[in-house]
Amino acid sequence: MKVCSLASSSKGNCTLVYNEKEIIIVDMGISVKELEEKLLRLNLDFQNIIGVIVSHEHSDHVKGLSGLNKKYGIKIYVHYNSLDGVMNRTKIKKDAFVKFADKFKLGDFVIEPFEVSHDVFCVGFNIYENSNKISIVTDLGYTTTGVVERLFNSRLVILEANHDENMLRNGNYPAVLKSRILSKKGHLSNISSAKVVVELAQHNVKQILFGHLSEENNTPDLCYNTICSYLESVGVIPQVNIKLDIAKPYGIGPIFVIK
Ligand SMILES: [Zn+2]
Ligand SMILES: [Zn+2]
Repeated sequence: MKVCSLASSSKGNCTLVYNEKEIIIVDMGISVKELEEKLLRLNLDFQNIIGVIVSHEHSDHVKGLSGLNKKYGIKIYVHYNSLDGVMNRTKIKKDAFVKFADKFKLGDFVIEPFEVSHDVFCVGFNIYENSNKISIVTDLGYTTTGVVERLFNSRLVILEANHDENMLRNGNYPAVLKSRILSKKGHLSNISSAKVVVELAQHNVKQILFGHLSEENNTPDLCYNTICSYLESVGVIPQVNIKLDIAKPYGIGPIFVIK
């Protein structure tokens, strides 16, 4: 399978997981037009899309769903706990949705959702093609042991590194929003994310793509340098013990080939 981020930030998130004949969209936080343009640039056929899977109801994950449903009628796979929230947010009719509760098959892929701690019901995903596993987990205030274990043995983990705590604390966000982001139901900081990476490096994960960076409270350089410093301080050598990349907020890539 191949994995490619099309957008990744607090403003909009969309990831493709695909092979020669099937494409799964993970979260649709971009417009249909943008999706069409990006698929064209990747030389991928819109007809190959077999479904959209949705992590949760927030607009940076669902704002393109309604347009996609109207124009193409593509099925939307959503956890039954998120269905009402996504329907309210998108005004899409119920028959467009397929509810999931647990592991399910979608074309050549097997999707295993797992709940994460956020201020609305939210899931991360393990996605398998044959024995190859990748994981996508964003929008979580903290990681339980159970959540981190779900990521073990993934060939690629797309992991949130949302904010630098100092930038957030000293920034312009209202106090209520700051405390929401910093809470256990908010978002992972660079350091929290780095601590997860240390565990993943010890459990057969070779590649991380950091995503969902805040544009107000983080920068790619700060994220990368903070995480690398932390890893080095505990004896994990960045790019040697584990490869690290940062997703582009609005651009395509990088493309990971998992085989
Ligand atoms: Zn989000
Ligand atoms: Zn969210």
